[in-house]
Amino acid sequence: MLKDENFADWYADIVEKANLSDKRYPIKGMNVWTPYGWKIMRQVDTYIRRELDNTGHDEVCFPLLIPETEFKKEKDHIKGFDSEVYWVTHAGLNELDVRLVVRPTSETAMYPMFALWIRSHQDLPLKVYQIVNTFRYETKQTRSFIRVREIHFFESHTCHATEEEAQEQVEEDIRVLANIMSKLCLPYSLLRRTEWDKFPGAHYTVGIDTAMPNGRALQIGSIHHYRTNFSVPYGITYEDGDGEHRHVHQTTYGMSERLLGAMIGVHGDDKGLVIPPAVAPFQAVVIPILSKKNAEEVSEAARGIADALSKAGIRVKLDDRDDRPGSKYYDWEIRGVPLRLELGARDIENGVVTFARRDNGEKGTIALDSLTEGTRLVLRDIAFSMYEKAWEAQRASVQDIGSLDAIPEKTLRFGWCGCEECGHAIEDRFELKLLGTPYPAEEYQGSCIVCGKPASTVAYAARSM
Ligand code: ZN
Repeated sequence: MLKDENFADWYADIVEKANLSDKRYPIKGMNVWTPYGWKIMRQVDTYIRRELDNTGHDEVCFPLLIPETEFKKEKDHIKGFDSEVYWVTHAGLNELDVRLVVRPTSETAMYPMFALWIRSHQDLPLKVYQIVNTFRYETKQTRSFIRVREIHFFESHTCHATEEEAQEQVEEDIRVLANIMSKLCLPYSLLRRTEWDKFPGAHYTVGIDTAMPNGRALQIGSIHHYRTNFSVPYGITYEDGDGEHRHVHQTTYGMSERLLGAMIGVHGDDKGLVIPPAVAPFQAVVIPILSKKNAEEVSEAARGIADALSKAGIRVKLDDRDDRPGSKYYDWEIRGVPLRLELGARDIENGVVTFARRDNGEKGTIALDSLTEGTRLVLRDIAFSMYEKAWEAQRASVQDIGSLDAIPEKTLRFGWCGCEECGHAIEDRFELKLLGTPYPAEEYQGSCIVCGKPASTVAYAARSM
């Protein structure tokens, strides 16, 4: 299956061959995390936890079920989710008086509790996050990690005394995002969503999109500023220094297993996955090249290399299966291990180990007497060039257009006056989604490609995954 010819089939094929997820579970869109897929996700979660812990967030874990009465307190929010939530209507043989929602996201689970937790300005800011499963009834065709009904999800929720402090939180979220994305070697754009596409109940939403190789945009996360849109209906107030009761200003930041989908799509090639070193379950695989007369010596040396790397904190796998080296190479290429280390009798004689990079196929040697530093350097190079290459592709995925007569091939960029009517005209004409305008805003002087009036911003539109 070739990536350039049929991205969707290639993607499905790679997920299956690399054994990242098993979609044979008898509920469509609720897939089983296999050991290898889960190992990668756990690495990603480790970085998310580290970043959030370092910025003063506390991890929490809220119940899965939310009473309908709480779920319906914020009017826009419920309208946005009505058609895609699962309901629990019975407990045992009894029909419930108050139905329960299986969380699609946790605003309505957390905010009644925040109202109890927050009393005075000394309780602020409140910054919490959780990594849990959320549920959404997808009606479109499901796709592993990208469009599923049970979603591995990260969400942070914050409360602040003022709108400005909430705004500063949004800026912090963006810095956190940059750190996480560099580990995944993934490029992204930040676009302020249109009024008709923002998160239900939000003051504004910043979408985080990565361009996929098939020209579509994949939203991998979002950051929302709520102002007091939720704190008013949920009664989340604090007493300020003068004894006045005020509503808190809130933000949220969410990302999901789509990070894994983006990683597969952006980095993978016709041979299989290519996993960034920071999140690879195995950063290097050691393969002994045996011949009859030196089998023992080479096996032992290979074991020594694996041990030394492992002691140095490098995640390494020794593949000493009784199989041909070529077939081992093939297996680890499919699974995207960043670095292959081959060790034969001649390598030992020369005091080196031979390496092959998964990302670009480059080969070379690392001296055995500087094995760990040498390995770290190559892994660093791999991450660096994967990141560069991916950003280059993201930049090349944008097509500037000056009129509605253009033939859309990629993500479109154009002048837009900002009005809803022109926005819909663009969406209808190109059958694309208007992704939004750059965040933070960029200076622009041009005209709207629909009405011709002066436009103070560019906008982006693409088909979404
Ligand atoms: Zn216009």
